[in-house]
Amino acid sequence: MIGTWDLAFYPEDTIKRVRLVRRADGYYCQFCISVDVKEELHPTHKTIGLDVGLKEFYTDSMGQTEPNPRFYRQGEKRLKFHQRRVSRKKKGSTNRKKAINKLGRKHLKISRQREEHAKRLARCVIQSNDLVAYEDLRIKNLVKNHCLAKSINDAGWYQFRRWLEYFGKKMGRVTVAVNPAYTSQICSNCGAVVKKSLSTRTHVCACGCQLDRDENAAINILNRALGTVGHTGTWILDQNASGDFSSTVVGVILHQQDESLIEESPYL
Ligand SMILES: [Zn+2]
Repeated sequence: MIGTWDLAFYPEDTIKRVRLVRRADGYYCQFCISVDVKEELHPTHKTIGLDVGLKEFYTDSMGQTEPNPRFYRQGEKRLKFHQRRVSRKKKGSTNRKKAINKLGRKHLKISRQREEHAKRLARCVIQSNDLVAYEDLRIKNLVKNHCLAKSINDAGWYQFRRWLEYFGKKMGRVTVAVNPAYTSQICSNCGAVVKKSLSTRTHVCACGCQLDRDENAAINILNRALGTVGHTGTWILDQNASGDFSSTVVGVILHQQDESLIEESPYL
């Protein structure tokens, strides 16, 4: 068996579930293992707010931006090419099956690239901050808006958020999803509402505050999260007490072609 985790390390009775998964590039075997995956990290005394966007993957409350990867767009041409090949083949033919498999592999590759990107970023953000705040976007609703759909899917916000929450639990960091209403309109300095359209990129307030639009939003997101913590004080408990963090999925590849992506992925 090949994989990034040494399965023999775990006693047999810690293996709680085994799942066989078929993907375009082969069969995978997932072992769900009951094991404490918590990592002890020192507090960084840093908090951060993230504003996800179309132009940038995110802008944080310090004004730093993370560029948007364009795996999907890049891969799109290749996908179309393989899609055409499928449709040119005779239905039911072996060649068609082969072409379908090729297409499937392409899809797989792109989705794995996105997943890896989201995961890498999320781990990094969680490691360097005690509290991470982001918008509670109903991404599924956004995707219904067809114009933006491609970019939103593309950016992989959804995966990013899942990984933020995953690593947050694993490393004992606090993650807060805040209500996104008006985060871009409110002045992060004085609280006044400064109306702006999507095309207005700079926030300029009468109080003298002048910031990049997304940075202003990121600060509002962070402030909102800090406000939430102060008010309720219970959700930190929720974060740490709920769910079963002691189990994680360890993927081990049986019939493998691409062994790079299974590592600890709960989302194979
Ligand atoms: Zn202001």
